[in-house]
Amino acid sequence: MTTTRFAPSPTGYIHIGNLRTALFNFLIARKAGGTFILRIDDTDQERSRQEYIDGIMEDLEWLGLTWDRIEYQSKRMERYLEAADKLRDMGRFYEAFETPVELDLKRKKQLNMGKPPVYDRAALALSDDEKARLREERGPGVWRFKLDQHRINWQDGILGEISIDAASVSDPVLIRADGQMLYTLASVVDDTEMGVTHVVRGSDHVTNTATQIQIIEALGGTVPGFAHHSLLTGPQGEALSKRLGVLSIRDLRAQGLEPMALLSLMARLGSSQPVEVASSIEELAENFDLSTFGSAPTKFDEKDLLPLTAHILQHRPLADVAEAVAAAGVPEDKAEAFWMVVRDNIATLKDLPGWWQLFRDGAEPLIDEEDRDFIAEAMALLPDGPHDETTWGTWTKAVKEQTGRKGRGLFMPLRKAVTGMDHGPDMSQVLPLMQVIRARG
Ligand code: GLU
Repeated sequence: MTTTRFAPSPTGYIHIGNLRTALFNFLIARKAGGTFILRIDDTDQERSRQEYIDGIMEDLEWLGLTWDRIEYQSKRMERYLEAADKLRDMGRFYEAFETPVELDLKRKKQLNMGKPPVYDRAALALSDDEKARLREERGPGVWRFKLDQHRINWQDGILGEISIDAASVSDPVLIRADGQMLYTLASVVDDTEMGVTHVVRGSDHVTNTATQIQIIEALGGTVPGFAHHSLLTGPQGEALSKRLGVLSIRDLRAQGLEPMALLSLMARLGSSQPVEVASSIEELAENFDLSTFGSAPTKFDEKDLLPLTAHILQHRPLADVAEAVAAAGVPEDKAEAFWMVVRDNIATLKDLPGWWQLFRDGAEPLIDEEDRDFIAEAMALLPDGPHDETTWGTWTKAVKEQTGRKGRGLFMPLRKAVTGMDHGPDMSQVLPLMQVIRARG
């Protein structure tokens, strides 16, 4: 059965880049009728925070990316230690004692000699006595996985045929000197034991994948299908990493962007399929196709979320936004008329209170000097309220007859006087909602 997972580290809130990973894995599972696991990668006890775990769940729920199962790596330590023992027994795990400074020096030397900065495996040559002495002097070492130095190949779901020479990769550290279990091993144990069939993640993980394939094979697990999506850049191709803080899902939500706008954009951006607003997550899942994605960095511009959000709102019935309309202060008997008038004229639901305030309190009239007399004359012709949808027609007809103005010269000054703006919804719909018309004096 198809099983995927989204595996955030709870050291921060999720951002637009993580959303891409979460969404791809979610859609693959949903399309196949499989299982989507939310896995909290919290082996780093110092940096992991409960508030981030709560935040991640809240964000995923807001997006509608619901999970079938949740797993915490911090609760599975025993499994990882068992796997570590197994690797140790096989002679694939060794302790190394170099300090970060020593490692850095080695790397610099290698680079100076034009060699790739790969760990030289000096620790493999240590005798038991030497290890005991080093342990005494420096405390416990790190534990490295001994790669088999042959090529590692896989058919990547996005990148195609990948082949990495293990000799060009350092033996990965799986357990830190302070005993912290690192993601590389924990993730492999989880993916294997939880029956994960597809792993989709950012292309920054390609080298990890090479080493993880060898670890999975050493532990006797089944290698899942791997796919690495490109990383997002800003609209100009600039690195997005520094801005990811402000591109958190909660930030985008606070801006009033619609979840379906985010999902629809991210399900297509960087693929050969056009971006279009989906009506449901099921529809997104049905049409999702990993093979349509390219390997080039994907340009992301958060401004693109605005027209998508506006499009979604234009097609929303009142029932779907009744809460936001009520929260804007609109009384229930005016809600339908209000929503029908403003939904084509808002960027996000955050614009609702402003519109309601305009209708309730009236707008500061916008009257050009040369229109002063005209507006005074027109206002005298405006019938007393309450106004209905026919008021605008009868009123402008009367104004036209009395003043001789027509077309734009007739309508625009009236719109500006009533709404304080030179654009906006159909005036015959606006008038019945206006509780006060300040231009009347
Ligand atoms: N916790 C890892 C990360 O956030 C998960 C990577 C993976 O999907 O394997 O980068």
